[in-house]
Amino acid sequence: MKIIAGNWKMNGTRSGLESMVRDLETVDTENQVILCVPFTMLGVRSDKVALGGQDVSEQAKGAFTGEVAASMIADTGAKYVIVGHSECRQYHNETNNTVRNKASQALANGLIPIICVGETMEEKQAGKTMAVIESGVRESIPSDVSTDIIVAYEPRWAIGAGLTPTESEIAEAHTLIAKTLADMGLGGTPVLYGASVKGSNAAEIMSIPNVDGVLVGGASLKSDDFIPIITSVK
Ligand code: PEP
Repeated sequence: MKIIAGNWKMNGTRSGLESMVRDLETVDTENQVILCVPFTMLGVRSDKVALGGQDVSEQAKGAFTGEVAASMIADTGAKYVIVGHSECRQYHNETNNTVRNKASQALANGLIPIICVGETMEEKQAGKTMAVIESGVRESIPSDVSTDIIVAYEPRWAIGAGLTPTESEIAEAHTLIAKTLADMGLGGTPVLYGASVKGSNAAEIMSIPNVDGVLVGGASLKSDDFIPIITSVK
């Protein structure tokens, strides 16, 4: 069983989501399918497709205009929330510390955080990839985790750019993440790969050791692109 999570970013409509959920419900798969959508679309019901948010406030409630609390996301029936996505780290200057606070809020409200880590092009070129990944994992995960979390390795330079690392780069990153998680007492935590996943490369990527699924941006927006990713693996 693999985890296939879509990230719609700031795209789509509620009726478009309803239609995709109907399409996905016809797919014969044992994989866990998740769609992380804009807050306004949460609340669409499905027995087979779980929904998630794409960000969450660091705060529990109160005078934080424009923010959405984890309890509110959970109240829609959503089960997941992405934290520390590359675009949030870039445009909202999120640090590992911010991401850890957001993950704590998610966990305190029964949501499974999908915690994203990954290196920028600048960090890659400076030879810092492994150090950034390891500190991302160690610093972005709350210390008192006792329930499920998901980690996503997303090389930031590759997201939305149509670029993918080599198979051995993905393998090296995922091996390090699995070892780091085990060292933190979190062995067995699923680790997804994300960046430019599509129907034509999904099976190969998910055959790499320690890749437990994928986080998919652009190719999760249309059933015709997303379904081949879901069915590419058993
Ligand atoms: C993402 O947004 O998490 C992502 C991986 O995007 P894309 O698949 O479009 O590179």
